Amino acid sequence: MKPARFDYVRAESIAHAVEVLAGAGGDGKVLAGGQSLMPMMNFRLVKPSVLVDINRIPDLDRITLAADALRLGALVRHRLTAEDALVARHIPVLHAAMKHVAHLTVRNRGTFCGSVCHADPAAEMPMMTLLLDGTIHIASPHSARAMPARDFLTGSLATALEPDEMVTAVDLAIPADGTGWAFEEFSRRHGDYALAAVAVLMRRTDGRARDVRIAMMGIADTAVRLTEVEATLEGSAGTPAAFDEAAALLQASIAPNSDLNASADYRRHLAGALARRALADAWNRADETSD
Ligand code: FAD
Repeated sequence: MKPARFDYVRAESIAHAVEVLAGAGGDGKVLAGGQSLMPMMNFRLVKPSVLVDINRIPDLDRITLAADALRLGALVRHRLTAEDALVARHIPVLHAAMKHVAHLTVRNRGTFCGSVCHADPAAEMPMMTLLLDGTIHIASPHSARAMPARDFLTGSLATALEPDEMVTAVDLAIPADGTGWAFEEFSRRHGDYALAAVAVLMRRTDGRARDVRIAMMGIADTAVRLTEVEATLEGSAGTPAAFDEAAALLQASIAPNSDLNASADYRRHLAGALARRALADAWNRADETSD
């Protein structure tokens, strides 16, 4: 298949990009890595009248350390996120997750922010943005705003982004020192989209679990934080029984869909098994501290 006709504009700056988007009357699309957009255009699932190529805008391809967050600019490719020393040092759970994203050719082009904007329910980046209490930085022709990831991701392939806006960066909060972490994913072949994945962060204070965070994908229309399960684990002893109980609650609280790849029952089973494993791993990696 070939895409429908479109105009192409190479944006020189963020201001130029959002100006062109505004002029497209709601029908323009940002082109970042093109790894999701181009296939969708080729299948004519999307038919933008204008493509706004942001790849030549300076300074968007960096990962920088802010006070308590890492900022990933709009042109940070998956490969850089996977290999960056700041990511490996400050957010090891993200470093681990990136190994599961696609293949080298896709990683060379695909961007972190592009994945968050695409909001595929089976993608790792939206899920990691939720886990890490991400903040989405957005530019429009008249202003700039920032939004928590939980408000930005509204559904399958759906976000709160307006047609004349572009994402300029995503901030990911750096977990406290000594936080335990785990990432577990199941896919049929390495690099394929996952059937399900779970990421966990947890501190361990006086033998109790604290600040538990659990994010999952593959079990709903969008990536999710399991806040109810997080709350039940708060202050619990890190025993296999506590993690079994949490995994059972998680399984009871989700309503996965059946599709070509897996039945709802199988996805529920996977979710429980991956969560149990990830909770135990995060607990074992956490440094024991005292209040
Ligand atoms: P694009 O394709 O350029 O854009 C995607 C959408 O986001 C478009 O609607 C575009 O307009 C919008 N957009 C992009 N950037 C911005 C911005 N800054 N502001 C506003 N809107 C923006 N992903 C995974 O997570 N896991 C996988 O295992 C995986 N496997 C893959 C395997 C293959 C073979 C392929 C082709 C892709 C795979 N992907 C996977 C998807 C890949 O990660 C994409 O790179 C990613 O989803 C989109 O990033 P992109 O930069 O290519 O965005």
